Amino acid sequence: MYAEPICIACDVERKLTDIAPVKNRHDMLSYECPQCLSIFRLVVRRERRELAETNPGRPIFAAAEPA
Ligand SMILES: [Zn+2]
Repeated sequence: MYAEPICIACDVERKLTDIAPVKNRHDMLSYECPQCLSIFRLVVRRERRELAETNPGRPIFAAAEPA
């Protein structure tokens, strides 16, 4: 999960209120300040979450080495 940004005007943590998919496998996260209600938007890559969902239990790193 991503760290919640701080509203620099109020010095409080913003709350994640919306996640909207955007192009190129990115998500736009909307964080709302509970005091001044301003919205901070952040676009992040989605691929890490997709990997976890589409490849359950599959190891990412091969650990086999010849004895
Ligand atoms: Zn604020």
